[in-house]
Formats: sequence, structure tokens, C-alpha cells
Amino acid sequence: MRQLILGCLMALLLLAALPQAVPCAQPTADLPAHAALDLAVLRAAYPGAVQGLERNPAGQLELVLTTGQRLMYDDGRTESATADSRHADDPHANDAKKDLTAPDLRTMMAQAYPLGPVDEASANPKPGFDPGRARVQGLFTALYGATEAQVRKNCTPVHFDTHTLPFSTRFGAAQALERVWRRIEPLLPQHPEFLPVLRPLGETLAWRVIAGTQRLSMHSFGIALDVNPDLPYWRWEKHPETIPARCRAFPPELLAAFEAEGFIWGGKWASFDLMHFEYRPELVLKARILAGELPQP
Ligand SMILES: [Zn+2]
Repeated sequence: MRQLILGCLMALLLLAALPQAVPCAQPTADLPAHAALDLAVLRAAYPGAVQGLERNPAGQLELVLTTGQRLMYDDGRTESATADSRHADDPHANDAKKDLTAPDLRTMMAQAYPLGPVDEASANPKPGFDPGRARVQGLFTALYGATEAQVRKNCTPVHFDTHTLPFSTRFGAAQALERVWRRIEPLLPQHPEFLPVLRPLGETLAWRVIAGTQRLSMHSFGIALDVNPDLPYWRWEKHPETIPARCRAFPPELLAAFEAEGFIWGGKWASFDLMHFEYRPELVLKARILAGELPQP
């Protein structure tokens, strides 16, 4: 009997010690499947940053960050702009353009990044297929810093080849870049073909807009690395017809080292940028789940 009373007392004490329930965003069970998946990968990729998805008074889904900041998840424009506007003659081409300048999060995550070695399909992406290139800037300023000073404060030097480069410590980015180099370094003696890709090395952190746009480059947040800046970029490439072959010639071991650590490669975009890698763990995780390599978190 005494043990029973003691047990009850302990249970009451434990209940009293539990923290108050955090006010909850819309339960995941009520979300459309695509939204539940996007929420799950955002939470897993950016631990502690995401509270949940909630409907605003207009019925649109918004992502609520733990800071209270709200970002549009689905502004109600159709998916057309993401999935169907890969052809230049598509009537939704203007929507696709809007999606680059002011995408919602659903659009940002809609095109599945094609993980793995370059194949016929990824060497020849359809126009408008640029997975990861439409970005919700407010998410990245919230995650990594809203000013150059804030971003710099979050950066640490990372050893990469013969350089020490500033990279964000937030959400494992700097550690991921360190691991990329640890994967590449032991392969170098056997792979002289890596050198013209890696040297001279481009930049990581640079607070600047993307050429020809008002949008901040991912370099602004200390989460992107350009390898040799002489590699082709769509805006000034004079022989775009050579790009599929150059993508196929890109050392697969280098690509695999980056993708294994949560980076995406601009060489897989229709608007190609073969020097550019950026840390996008949410897109890489989503790609692995969609490929059946990982269960949904
Ligand atoms: Zn770049």
C-alpha cells in the first residue's frame, strides 16, 4: 500500500515537472501529403528552426518558424509553374519567372533534385528545370543571418584543398563542407582530372545579389562554394550546346562527395552553373526519401 501511494506521488510530481505544451501548429495528419513531407524534411534539415504549418485567415498554408516568423508555404497559385512550365512555349512561362523572384516554399521544394551521377536526363534538363534555384529568401535570412555582419558572425574557417574558407556554422553547413573535403582529399593522388575543376578555387562567402537580379546569392549566407570559376555559367556561356557533354565529363567522385554531405550542384540546372555547389540539406533529404533510400522522418 505504501509503495502504491509513493508511486502515485511520484507520478504527480513527474506530471507537474513536465513543460507546458507548446502551442501547436496544424497537426501534420491534417496536411496534404506533399505539405507533410516538405514540413518533415524542413524540420529534419534545420533542427529547432521550424515550428509547423498553419493556415492563415485566407486559408493559405504558412510555415511558422520557432521565432514566430511566418513564410508563405502555398500562396494558392497552381503548381503549374513548378511542374509544367519546363517548356519555353508553355503558357505558364511567366509564372515560372515569378516563381524565381517570389516563390512560395512549396514551389521552392517542388522540383526533385536528381541525386547521383550525371545521366542522359540530368545532362539535358528541360527549360525551367532548376531544382533548388527558386528560393524563399526569407527562409535563408532567418536561418543564416539577415545582414552581412550577422552571416559573418555565424561563419568559421573551413579547410578545403589549399584554402581556408569562411562557411556558416549554422545547421551543420561548415562541418558538411569539411567532410566533403575529407572525402575528396584521399582520392586526389589517383585523380589528376580533379585539379582543373578545383583549382583555382572560387569563393564561398560573398554578400551579393545574383548577376542580373535583385535576389541575394546563396554565397551571401556562407553556404555556397564555387569551384573553378572558369567553369560554364549560363549567362555568359557562348557554346551552350557543349554543356551536356561537359556535365557528363564532370568528375563523378567530386559530385558524389558534395551530394553525400547535403550539397546540390548547379550543373544539374537548365540554367547551368557548373562551378556552383550549395548546402541544401532539405532538398537532398527530400530527394533521398522520394527515391526510397530513406523513410519519411
Ligand atoms: Zn556560386
